Amino acid sequence: MFSRDWVYENFRAYYRSPRYEFPSPQSFSQREYAFLLFKERAMVRHKSFHSSAALVSSLRERIPSDVYHSCAYYENPDADMDKKGWSGADLVFDIDADHIPTSCNKLHDEWKCGNPACLVAGGMSGRGITPEECPACGGVKFETKTWACEECIDTTRTETRKLLDMLTNDFGFSEHEIHTYFSGHRGYHIHVENNSVRSLDTMARKEIVDYVCGIGLDMFDKKRRDSAKQKRKTSTPVFALGDYGWKRRLKNGMRTYILNSAKEGLIELGVSKKGADVLFKNKQAIVNRCIEEGRWDTVKGVGFETWMRIAEHVKDQEIAQIDTVVTSDIHRLIRANGTLHGKTGLLKAEFPVKDLDTFDPFVGAVAFKEGTAHVLVSDAPEFKLSGETFGPYKNQRVELPTAAAVLLILKGRAEVQN
Ligand SMILES: [Zn+2]
Ligand SMILES: [Zn+2]
Repeated sequence: MFSRDWVYENFRAYYRSPRYEFPSPQSFSQREYAFLLFKERAMVRHKSFHSSAALVSSLRERIPSDVYHSCAYYENPDADMDKKGWSGADLVFDIDADHIPTSCNKLHDEWKCGNPACLVAGGMSGRGITPEECPACGGVKFETKTWACEECIDTTRTETRKLLDMLTNDFGFSEHEIHTYFSGHRGYHIHVENNSVRSLDTMARKEIVDYVCGIGLDMFDKKRRDSAKQKRKTSTPVFALGDYGWKRRLKNGMRTYILNSAKEGLIELGVSKKGADVLFKNKQAIVNRCIEEGRWDTVKGVGFETWMRIAEHVKDQEIAQIDTVVTSDIHRLIRANGTLHGKTGLLKAEFPVKDLDTFDPFVGAVAFKEGTAHVLVSDAPEFKLSGETFGPYKNQRVELPTAAAVLLILKGRAEVQN
């Protein structure tokens, strides 16, 4: 408990600093605000404020571990849900390593069933992504131990890059309408604030989710396929490739895939040995003939099955792995920019869209910049913060900068020493 009190003191000092400023979201006073209280661990919802100064004074009084606001705009943001008067919502995307299989999550993430009556004595446990239901008892509560490493960030950054490409090139949003944030833990939030998205209902948002996730994507050129069928000319699919949207994405993706392919990779995809051989030896010619000119059925040994496997693989690579529930929920609460994350002590931090590749969250989102603390670390992998490298630690007493100590304590891996 002493360690958590110490972290609380740091959160309090942060919000009570005269330098603290809350970066107001657009239409500030039409939003619902919510706080997760640090000590009580209870959620306080349905708050509204007329000015960011009023919100800041509430933050200073309550000292929450987490601060959220609605993506929605309401006539009465502090009323009960059914009386709020929904008048629109931003279009938001959440890309989080919690939901994306990375090669690192088996290394640093653990879960344990929280059902006291779990069929596995002591609770079923495992490594990697936390399941939605316990495989043993079907329980839905878990104790988790996670970590945010550079690979988590790299993976979510790649997904974010793909999403931003869709938002700007396919949907036509300008960089001024798109806000990009580090989430404060291990991912990114993307908010689109624009009049044309404000009034979209749940169904319309689900359509956008489908587009981003490639769900129901028809990769074929139906007209050409039908006319070929009539002439009984071919059984090879005719992909619809082009210069816009998914057609461009598939075209570029298939071209790049074939030009960079290795025989083993093709065989792993399920392409026959013969097909892989032909593709590998004639890469450029096949790209020119099939992908550029659309003459799909003119390469012996590379037929329907092969093209389908390549196209499906490319599609899977090109989708952006978003948390689909967040985008379609028109009442969603989302972490507020410029506030501390209760699992890391890092900030949700905005950066310009163009800086996605250069913004380092482990530098730019660090809130606590002064002081040190003596901690006993039970177990922590190597990590970087503010450009310094720490760890790995195993049952070690160390003196760490405040930000590093807060992170380890919130992650349940260290205790502060008196
Ligand atoms: Zn269980
Ligand atoms: Zn990781």
